[in-house]
Amino acid sequence: MNTQATPKKRIALFGSTGSIGTQALDVIRCNPDRFEASILTAQHNDELLVQQAIEFNPHTVVIGDANRYQKVKDALAGKSIQVLAGEKALEEAASHDGYDMMLAAIVGYAGLRPTLCAIENGKAIGLANKETLVVAGDIVMQKAFQKRVPILPVDSEHSAIFQCLVGETRNPIEKIILTASGGPFLGKKPNYLVNVKREHALQHPNWSMGAKISIDSATLMNKGLEMIEAKWLFNLRPEQIQVVVHPQSIIHSMVQFQDGSIKAQMGLPDMKLPIQYAMAFPQRIVNDFPRYDFKKVSTLSFEEPDLRTFRNLALAIEALQKGGNLPCVLNAANEIAVFAFLRNRINFLDITNVIEKTMANVAFIEQPTLQQYFDSDGEARSFAADLIQL
Ligand code: NDP
Ligand code: MG
Repeated sequence: MNTQATPKKRIALFGSTGSIGTQALDVIRCNPDRFEASILTAQHNDELLVQQAIEFNPHTVVIGDANRYQKVKDALAGKSIQVLAGEKALEEAASHDGYDMMLAAIVGYAGLRPTLCAIENGKAIGLANKETLVVAGDIVMQKAFQKRVPILPVDSEHSAIFQCLVGETRNPIEKIILTASGGPFLGKKPNYLVNVKREHALQHPNWSMGAKISIDSATLMNKGLEMIEAKWLFNLRPEQIQVVVHPQSIIHSMVQFQDGSIKAQMGLPDMKLPIQYAMAFPQRIVNDFPRYDFKKVSTLSFEEPDLRTFRNLALAIEALQKGGNLPCVLNAANEIAVFAFLRNRINFLDITNVIEKTMANVAFIEQPTLQQYFDSDGEARSFAADLIQL
């Protein structure tokens, strides 16, 4: 009999202080014999990072904001934890050998470079950071293929599709159906949206998430980014990706096969489930999360997304169809516009105007190199920032 215990999977948690990061640490906390946190990173939140480091004892922590380095260093003095700081340090940590899987949970474009380093380093990726694939999906997936690195989706819709595809390797996908909750403004029209405030837009009906993705959910940009993410993850043509609004968020997405059969993955909305599925794949871990009860939520409803009101989704579909550097430009403009909205500098509907104008302005490149993606991102950011005089 083999009495040897399976070695623990060493997780490098990039963005450990965020919504996904803290939930991933909950999963690790509940499964100490399966996982350990080897690397933790934060941008500004030094206090939580230190608290996490004391609890989980990683070998390395990174604080992105270099001004906070000394505070973190002092708080962890006497522990054998390497403290790194600054943007480049994220890449240094990602290139470290001492971990098995990166959980990519940084928000936005900032997640791209560290994730590319981890792939280059031959590490498996649990991908929450959808912007990585939106910006440079072709290059990221190609590199992962070359390095034989699995990219395991954490985004709930993509985890659902991934779960539906288990055991179907030889069966082509006819189409996928991405479900969308519709966000806090489902059914609203522009005359209402023009007045919505930051606090209201941050209140998602079904999910508790970081600020940026909460706004993206309210504008439906999140679903657009997810369509592009799905294209790269599952190697689909744009016309194979359909969005359906499903306000209860019980069906997390579906796959339709060539015989017309549809598989769905269901459950209560709880990001810990896709997080632990990616971390433990191909195993499923026992947990005590609340279960979906058909008697309690007995109506599951579906409707078309309102592309005329939620124009961000229409812009994302245009970027998905045209490809090239357009998704990268869309993403950069969206990050700037959401940043401005969160600081009450522009109104809710201006987010779309900023993105549309930036997409029209930055030169189209059909097959960008990685450097051209970086440049397009920079160009789109400065154009969008100038537009709103940031
Ligand atoms: P949060 O804003 O809650 O957390 C973001 C994390 O990234 C924090 O640890 C933050 O550090 C760090 N961070 C922020 N900016 C930078 C930067 N410039 N460089 C390095 N690190 C940075 O985001 P979420 O957890 O909500 O989302 C993370 C990613 O996961 C996003 O791409 C999102 O789209 C995706 N996702 C999230 C879901 C959710 O339910 N939250 C669901 C599906 C996908 P600090 O705390 O110090 O600021
Ligand atoms: Mg999602």
